[in-house]
Amino acid sequence: MAKLEVVVFPDDRLRRHCRPLKAEEIDDKLRTLCADMLETMYADEGIGLAAPQVGLSIRLVVIDIPDEDGSQGKNPLVLINPEIVRHEGTVPSTEGCLSVPDYTAEIERFETVTVKALDQYGREFTLDADGLLAICLQHELDHLDGKLFIDKLSMLKRNMLKKRYLKLKKEAQHAAAEAE
Ligand SMILES: [Zn+2]
Repeated sequence: MAKLEVVVFPDDRLRRHCRPLKAEEIDDKLRTLCADMLETMYADEGIGLAAPQVGLSIRLVVIDIPDEDGSQGKNPLVLINPEIVRHEGTVPSTEGCLSVPDYTAEIERFETVTVKALDQYGREFTLDADGLLAICLQHELDHLDGKLFIDKLSMLKRNMLKKRYLKLKKEAQHAAAEAE
């Protein structure tokens, strides 16, 4: 398994509309990618990761909601070509994202969702979710359509964030250049 590089906002790869996977693409190579994405997510202490966050424009998401004691690894979930088929209610949700590091904001989400998807063996399943899982599913599925949770904030806040991350990126590039 390998840890992958996580794409950070503002990067065009986070803005692409991802394509569905074909049945013949659900093979060992893809399952290795799923394992790598889970490893990457655990290493960065995330609860979900979507393919565009590792630079791939395909409809693939991994999730692992921690247990009560905060530990992960027991509930890995792979969703291929996921779709929200039903939703109910709304709840406030304080969210962060591995692609928008060190930032959280409160937005609104559906309270419960039903999601249809394929697993890593191409088998269709339906998931009724509430609580953190419901929110995580909505957050990750948004990634597949090039949407980020910060899109729900005001234009002013988003522009400030964009400036902040561009500045951080520049600083990182400078530091890398100086280290050479
Ligand atoms: Zn995210």
